[in-house]
Amino acid sequence: MEIEHSTLFIDGEWAKPATGGAIQVFSPTTEQLFGIFPESSTADVDSAVAAAGRALRSSEWANLDGSDRAAILDRFADAVERRSEERASLVSRQNGMPITLARFAEGDAPVQLLRYYSDLIRSSSVEEVRQSLSSAGTTIVRKEPVGVVAAIAPWNYPAILSMFKIAPALAAGCTVVLKPSPETTLDSYLLAEAAVEAGLPAGVLNIVTGGPDVGQYLVAHPGVSKVAFTGSTPAGRHIGRVCGELLRPVTLELGGKSAALILDDADIETTVAGLATASLLNSGQTCYMSTRILAPANRYSEFLDAVTAMAASLPIGDPADAGTFVGPLVSERQYKRVLSMIDAGSAEGATVTTGGKRPAHLDRGWFVEPTVFGNLSNDANIAKDEVFGPVLTVIPYSDEADAIALANDSEYGLGGTVWTADRDRGIDVARKVETGSFGVNTYGLDWGSPFGGVKASGVGRELGPEGLASYYSLKSIFLPE
Ligand code: NAD
Repeated sequence: MEIEHSTLFIDGEWAKPATGGAIQVFSPTTEQLFGIFPESSTADVDSAVAAAGRALRSSEWANLDGSDRAAILDRFADAVERRSEERASLVSRQNGMPITLARFAEGDAPVQLLRYYSDLIRSSSVEEVRQSLSSAGTTIVRKEPVGVVAAIAPWNYPAILSMFKIAPALAAGCTVVLKPSPETTLDSYLLAEAAVEAGLPAGVLNIVTGGPDVGQYLVAHPGVSKVAFTGSTPAGRHIGRVCGELLRPVTLELGGKSAALILDDADIETTVAGLATASLLNSGQTCYMSTRILAPANRYSEFLDAVTAMAASLPIGDPADAGTFVGPLVSERQYKRVLSMIDAGSAEGATVTTGGKRPAHLDRGWFVEPTVFGNLSNDANIAKDEVFGPVLTVIPYSDEADAIALANDSEYGLGGTVWTADRDRGIDVARKVETGSFGVNTYGLDWGSPFGGVKASGVGRELGPEGLASYYSLKSIFLPE
């Protein structure tokens, strides 16, 4: 076996798992087995949560102030940075992410995020004195770490989405039990190595392994104070119900079916070039993709043809090649799901203008051609449901108000884009779309600004100072005159 782990990272040590279960990792490119790691049992989760609870109260962690924790985060960032190339390549091998994207999103970005939160915590104060508005006294408003955080990550961007949670949680003084997705757990061992190298106090970061059962056990664990989850909407609804019953704070970053509004003044070439990354990044396995492309009816066939040509031209193949834009889907399950959604879309009457099947030149791996559907309405299932693969729908609209109404006619609200020659007009449209984030002639996350969804795309925000705030509990201390 090429990559084999027999331990879990709990309480700052490489711990033997309580039982003998193992999880295998298959390459989505070759379909070959290349990694194995232990599956955590409930006893392992208990140990991890207990270690995180002890660390939370330990003098090595609880007595640190913001600048002490910033120094630890800086050391952690350096150690994570030393593993950037290895992490990017490992993620790419596990989930098929094209390596050029992986180098940024999974290699560099986690380091940038740690440094961002380190700077933020160094310059922020946890206590503020306010003049009372109802007495002559004052009030100290104090931010305290919310406690042990259960962080649950999906497979599509495993390292950066784990870091969306770990970096602000540690900055706030919380401790973390991370559960990565079973498809992408191998890279979390690099994170654990970096934590050891950086001297994170024992128990501040723990990693448990496994699928939904282990996740469910962790979410409901009595030793957990907050849940931070990124994944599908159905799993998010379940976690939301459990946390509601427990009155446990929860952040849910869920699915999407975002709209790209192409206005009638948009330049066709720059729009379509921008849509390649705004709609098909990571082979469409990105939560905020603008996969519902809304085109003006009077230029509909022009845009449908251009989107079709763009999708057909994207290099598809081995994710390890720097020139690849479309790699394989993460797993056979995902491959079959996407192909069956494409079939159902055709059966509904929409026209496939390109793609729709496995590429002829690739007889191995979970590859699906970039696929475009035309001649359909916003009500078609293929236009409404999240596919999470390289599948676009191009839908006509009559005027700008209709485009905004169609964009908002979705159960989701995570991302979205507008494409126009007039920036102010684009910003005006951005203000009217019901979503948590939106791009004008571009789309790119900003570590310093909040990210999250409305409606079925989630609850709460990550990134920015708002992301840090969600790891604090507030205490008001009233003082007499
Ligand atoms: P998933 O919901 O199947 O799994 C996500 C993680 O949650 C995995 O670690 C899984 O083991 C765990 N899990 C699943 N069910 C659980 C439960 N009931 N309790 C606790 N843990 C549970 O999602 P996925 O297939 O890994 O990821 C794809 C989905 O994630 C897509 O819907 C995508 O849109 C969404 N996503 C959202 C964002 C965002 O920021 N909004 C980002 C990336 C992905």
